[in-house]
Amino acid sequence: MHELSIAAAVVESAEEVAREHGAASVESVQLRIGELAGVVSDALRFSFELVADGTLAAGAELLIEEVPARARCTGCDAEFAVGSPPRLWCPRCEQPAAELLTGRELELSGVQLPEAGSCPALHEAGRGERT
Ligand SMILES: [Zn+2]
Repeated sequence: MHELSIAAAVVESAEEVAREHGAASVESVQLRIGELAGVVSDALRFSFELVADGTLAAGAELLIEEVPARARCTGCDAEFAVGSPPRLWCPRCEQPAAELLTGRELELSGVQLPEAGSCPALHEAGRGERT
């Protein structure tokens, strides 16, 4: 299953970030997924919960930002929404000459750690100085 392997990679990256910061858990994970990336958000959410179980990312919220697919016509420079299923067809010059600008993203854009765990040193230092 496609989404399961993506979820495994996401959990792995989130755990890495948590470990780097000495956090015992992960609050949320943000993903940017293009319209044409071929990922089913619901399936990914489900897979994420499965894979995250028993890891540092267990119980973390999966925030998915869907990126609409856009293309640019190489002939007239017009930008247009591609839609899904994709149609790489310039609406202005009616030619199939277009390059895809966005829509194939599949990236981890952020990992939020619980505040106390993300940077305990800073937390301690700030305590005395606050009035
Ligand atoms: Zn055009």
